[in-house]
Amino acid sequence: MLRPRSKIALIGIPFDANSSYLRGPAEAPASIRKALDCDSTNTWTESGKDIAEMIEDLGDLRFDSGMEPTQTITEGITGALQRGYAPLALGGDHSVTYAIVRAVASVHSGLTILHFDAHPDLYDEFQGSRDSHACPFARIMESGLAKRLVQVGIRTANDHQRSQAKRFAVEMIEMQHWKNQLPALEPPLYLSFDLDVLDPAFAPGVSHPEPGGMSTREALGAIQSLRIPLVGADVVELNPRRDPSGITAMCAAKIVKEIAAKMMDSPGRQTAPAKGNRAAPSHRKSI
Ligand code: MN
Ligand code: MN
Repeated sequence: MLRPRSKIALIGIPFDANSSYLRGPAEAPASIRKALDCDSTNTWTESGKDIAEMIEDLGDLRFDSGMEPTQTITEGITGALQRGYAPLALGGDHSVTYAIVRAVASVHSGLTILHFDAHPDLYDEFQGSRDSHACPFARIMESGLAKRLVQVGIRTANDHQRSQAKRFAVEMIEMQHWKNQLPALEPPLYLSFDLDVLDPAFAPGVSHPEPGGMSTREALGAIQSLRIPLVGADVVELNPRRDPSGITAMCAAKIVKEIAAKMMDSPGRQTAPAKGNRAAPSHRKSI
């Protein structure tokens, strides 16, 4: 049987020190891995790919070295990129995205970032911190790390964040105007998925639940509609302390799988024929 190359790296980032309200997202990588491996489901994407064959889990980054946390993240992601992996990071609070994108942009210049979130995360500073999880996209844009930032699902923009969006020419598609369609996007594309873009009815286990959000199906549909390569992605802001049933972790795992499917579509990451996969499932799970 054809064996596709395993070139997507799952990298856990157990870091939540830049959360403004609640801690907990540092525990998310373990929860998402548990959901990905849960016997209640299998490892197949809706497009017929087995992510168990495509993703290599590089484990969690460690923050006990004394190195500055953002440096730890940037170096960890850079290491994966240098080994030829496309990084799929599991946060962590959303501040990790700035450090990840620093690494990705050094390899892929002229990035477009597609950002799913209830919040613009464009504060110049928040509660006295420029490193807050409310600020990463201000840092990314003022550093010139992205050519274009497209935000979808936003439903908390205030005057300051609207003026920041204008300043950085951010294309903010607010949830009130979301018509289930992404604008045309150009490669190289990076995807940042804050789980609070989902309505709390679907994904209650986040630190900042904001009613009126996307259904899981709408978010999956938007991801599946992408027609250009994804060079990296993150899924952030799961708070397992607010997710006693584990349903938000299952949502995160589902999103991770469908993002991985899109990363596999990238040139040079051709998958084995889907029919062959179906005829000879190689993974132990067959639900
Ligand atoms: Mn966010
Ligand atoms: Mn958010």
